[in-house]
Parts: sequence; C-alpha cells; structure tokens
Amino acid sequence: MSYVQKVLEELKKKNPNEPEFHQAATEILTSFQPVVERHPEYEKAALLERFVEPERVIMFRVPWVDDKGGVHVNKGYRVQFNSAIGPYKGGLRFHPSVNLSIIKFLGLEQILKNSLTGLPIGGGKGGSDFDPKGKSDNEVMRFCQSFMTELYRHIGQDTDVPAGDIGVGGREIGYLFGQYKRIRDEHVGVLTGRGLSYGGSLVRTEATGYGLVYMTEEALKCRNDSFAGKRVVISGSGNVAIYACEKAQALGALVVAMYDSNGYIVDNAGIKLDVVKQIKEVERARIKEYATRVKGSEYHEGCKGIWSVPCDVALPCATQNEIDAESAKLLVKNGVKYVGEGANMPSTLEAIEVFQKAGVVFLPAKAANAGGVATSALEMAQSSGRLFWTFEEVDAKLKNIMVNIYHNMDDAAREYGMEGNYVAGANIAGFKKVAEAMMAHGIV
Ligand code: NDP
Repeated sequence: MSYVQKVLEELKKKNPNEPEFHQAATEILTSFQPVVERHPEYEKAALLERFVEPERVIMFRVPWVDDKGGVHVNKGYRVQFNSAIGPYKGGLRFHPSVNLSIIKFLGLEQILKNSLTGLPIGGGKGGSDFDPKGKSDNEVMRFCQSFMTELYRHIGQDTDVPAGDIGVGGREIGYLFGQYKRIRDEHVGVLTGRGLSYGGSLVRTEATGYGLVYMTEEALKCRNDSFAGKRVVISGSGNVAIYACEKAQALGALVVAMYDSNGYIVDNAGIKLDVVKQIKEVERARIKEYATRVKGSEYHEGCKGIWSVPCDVALPCATQNEIDAESAKLLVKNGVKYVGEGANMPSTLEAIEVFQKAGVVFLPAKAANAGGVATSALEMAQSSGRLFWTFEEVDAKLKNIMVNIYHNMDDAAREYGMEGNYVAGANIAGFKKVAEAMMAHGIV
C-alpha cells in the first residue's frame, strides 16, 4: 500500500463520521502522490500524518437569548489547522449544517489555499451551527457577542485571524470585532473583512468574486479567448456570487442564471445585478422576487436545475457538493468549456472527473477563490503598517495574485507531468511551501 493510501486509511479510521473531511483529504492527498515519491524523507518525518492532523481543535458552547427571552445553545468551533508558514487564517461560517467534519474539510483546504496566495498565512477555519436567517439584528448581535466571549482567548493578530464565510458578513464581523475590542481593550487587526471605518480594506467585499473572474479570465486569455459574449451561469446570490457576476459582466459576459437556497432564476437578456443586490443585500429576501420584478425572467423552485441552463462558463459560488456527476454531465453536454469554483468544494470528486475527462478547463476552489483570503492578508498588512491603500491599488494587487496563482498551478501540473490538471497543480503548488516549512521546523 502506498504512503498516501496508508495515511488516508488511518485518517478514516481515526476520524469516523466525517465524510466531508474524508472527501477533501482524499482529493488532496491523492494528488501529493508524485511529490512524496520524489521526497522519501517526508514519509520518514511522518509529514502527511502531521499535515492532516489539526494543530488544535477548539469546540465550545454558545448560549444566547432571543428577543422573546428564550434561551438557545449553539455549538462553536475553531480549527487551528496549520501555522507552519504564518498565523492561522480562515473564515467563520454560521449555518445550521456546520459540524466538525465541515470545519475540518474547510480548514485543510485553507492551508493550501493560503499558501498558494504567496502570502505568509497559515490555515484555520471556524463557525457555528447558528442560523442567522430570520433572526433580528439584536439576536445576531447577542449571538456574536457570546461566540466571541469564548473565541477571544484563542485568537490574536499574530496567532489566528478569522474572517467571514457563509452567514458571516459585514454585520457579523462588526459585532464580533466590537466584543473582542471590549474584552481585550485592543484595536488591532484580529479579524478581517472589517468595515472601512474601523480598519477594513477596500476591495475585501468584492475580492473573492472578482478574484475568481480574474483567474478565469487568465485561463481564457491563455487559450486566446475572453469573457466577451460568453454565457455564464453562477450559483448562489451571496457575497461571492454577486461580485463574480459584477466583474464577469464588466468583462462583457452574459450572466444568465443565479440561485439562492430555494430556487434559481433565468434571465436570457442578462441578470440585472442591481435588482439581485437590492433583494439579497438590502432586503435580505428570496431570489424568487427577481421574477416578479424583471419582465422576461423565470423562477424555478429547487437548485439543481440551474445546471441544465446551457452556458460556456459555470461559476459555482454557493456551497459544497452543489455539482454532482449528473449535473456535471449535463453541463458538458450543453457545451460548458470552463468551470471556476467560487465556493469551497462545490463539485463532488465524481463531477471533477467528468469535467477533466471532457477536457473542460477546471479551476479548483483552493486556487480560484483564494482572492478573498489574499485580500484579507492585504488587510492585515495595512493594519500592521497603519496604512490605507486605494481601491485601485488593492484591486491591482489582487489581480496580480490571481494571475500568479494560475501560472503557479499550471507550472506545478506540468512539472509533475499532469498538464492542465489544476486540481493536482493547485494542491502541489500549495503543498510545496508548507512541506518545506514543516520540515525546517523539525517534528512539531
Ligand atoms: P453567503 O452567505 O454570502 O452566500 C451564500 C449563497 O449560497 C447564498 O445565496 C445562499 O442562499 C446559497 N446557499 C448556501 N447554502 C446553500 C445550500 N445548501 N444550497 C443552495 N444554496 C445555498 O456566502 P459567501 O458568498 O461568502 O460564500 C459562498 C461560498 O464561497 C462558500 O462555499 C464559502 O466557503 C466560499 N468562500 C467565500 C469567501 C468569501 O470571501 N466570502 C472566500 C472563499 C470562499 P440563501 O440566500 O438562500 O442563504
């Protein structure tokens, strides 16, 4: 049995009932095979065994009181996965589906993603099974304050710097930061995605969506192509989806479909993004509303059907495992040429195989959605230097980072004889630096 297989078997035995973690670890470790063959010293140092075991897992109780005086208890998590190349960095997710398996899969991916940015940040992730949907601002505030009342003792600007993710946007980051500052009496860059009035960076809101489109644009450019006139389907209508749509449209694409967790809209004349923003960002309402406001558009209940809408470029930007093999086959049949993952692990392993076999250019999440964390690291740099860069400055740095990531993963795939396989390329390019740092640190 190969070293990689041995570590994977052991991981599944030691961590039963963690299917998402198994899925991410399988994808990642399998692609390390040629690297560990070239570096037998890694096995001797049990490097992979250490790589898949988080440095620290923190689980805690989050009690809070609703507007009617009812008491609730949620679970809180922070997985500090790997700090070999810098302080832990990764988002917080508030969603009822959150459990340890999901936080661990996200944390593992984050290590490589952060390394790929070329910036000095380690990997971590956290969150809660709390559902902000349908809660009042006051309830969300009380929840965030309770969450931070435990988390504050484990984080710090040089230790662990959380950010937003699903269900954690500007409002939640504000409440979390306010409570940290109150307890610690420190106004420091301990969270990123902060508001502009209290140390945030321009472009952070747009960063993941814009970054995804910058990388896809580079992939198109390397094939003498461009976004102009391309039909694009984007799943989700949250932070990543909205700004991916904005940038793709700015580059001349025709975005024809989007969804939220209830259903999808199709607008063959091109999605009116101002209407989507009004519904999702301002009113926090359902995307169904779009069809009642924009003539000629349609609403369909359920999400999966979105992948039957013909497109040249698909940008899944909602959540994990939203494209299965069946949806992938449908996309291929309808002529998709590029898939860029805005969400984390939106394609199942089987779906990825379908895309790769069909010659679709597949840009995996850990590379394609790294723009968010890269801009968070730029926010950290501005915080420590007490600097404030312009929108243009940050945007230019973001674009540069995304283009570099594309070429680094392309080069790594070639170096190991897997040209065009960006899953392997991204994993290997991200792993190289982390592995080198871990080896340099000795057995820790
Ligand atoms: P948001 O909460 O802003 O938006 C999430 C969107 O996806 C919403 O439209 C939501 O619908 C939809 N959605 C969530 N869960 C499901 C589900 N189970 N089925 C169908 N639709 C669903 O999150 P973000 O845009 O920030 O994050 C989206 C993805 O991108 C996540 O995978 C996240 O980890 C990843 N990501 C985000 C980064 C960031 O900077 N924000 C950085 C890197 C990755 P509804 O409105 O109904 O809730």
